Amino acid sequence: MSESVPPFVPVAGSPAATADDQWFPTRAGKVLIVDGLDGPRPLTSDQAAALGDALGTSLVLGRVEGEPGHWWTADVGADFDEFTAPVDGLMFTDLRSMMATLDPLIWNIAGRATQIGDWYRDNQRCGRCGGPMQMSDSERSMTCPVDGFSAYPRLSPAVIVLVEHPDGRALLARNIAWSMPMYSTLAGFIEPGESLEDCIHREIMEEVAISVADLRYFDSQSWPFPNSLMLGFFATYVDGEITPAPDEIADAQWFAPSELPKIPPRGSIARALIDDWVRRGDSL
Ligand SMILES: [Zn+2]
Repeated sequence: MSESVPPFVPVAGSPAATADDQWFPTRAGKVLIVDGLDGPRPLTSDQAAALGDALGTSLVLGRVEGEPGHWWTADVGADFDEFTAPVDGLMFTDLRSMMATLDPLIWNIAGRATQIGDWYRDNQRCGRCGGPMQMSDSERSMTCPVDGFSAYPRLSPAVIVLVEHPDGRALLARNIAWSMPMYSTLAGFIEPGESLEDCIHREIMEEVAISVADLRYFDSQSWPFPNSLMLGFFATYVDGEITPAPDEIADAQWFAPSELPKIPPRGSIARALIDDWVRRGDSL
């Protein structure tokens, strides 16, 4: 959520390693951190070096404007044991559990680490001919030297929409996949060929069978679970009776700001949409 030039500058290729470098190694979507009294921290360059062969190929993520050194990730071998490694306080953790404890910029870098790690691990072989791929030095791509096929880090854009009723209520829904009784805004992935607006109208019709108008862009958020880009909108209800799609939505209702159910935690764009709508209702 930036309104100006972001402080993180992505870097591809192989910049020289320095003592100021910081590391978020990953394994199967989890991030290796150093856990201390002041919360989770990335590994220093010395700590990363101490792990030796346990770390696979070094992958640079980028740098923070105005700070020395680069941020790196690497795949951690399956037989690596964080409890016997020569660095104190190592633990694997997931991005969700660090959302509340890490500075948002640092959490975002950890999310970059899992996504760049996934991209490198999943594109060792060409999807067209099956031959070995090579990492480009000039851009973030894996390329096949035989047929030129290139694989870039995958991003899956999705719309997330708070539907407002003209009477002041908002539509929140509970997904059948959620174990907790939480209600949130509607969301869905964009299909090839769709505009953002096409996707919003289709998703809302599919999930709750209502039509909307007056789409208003709100904000966007990188959502590394595993590789989404959430594009947040408000929309206004026009017509139809809420009819939840049985294979996706357990329940959907209109809620007034004063009678909200359990909603997503702060830090998510779903929560930011809901908070913005409540705030506007309060000021009427
Ligand atoms: Zn190939």
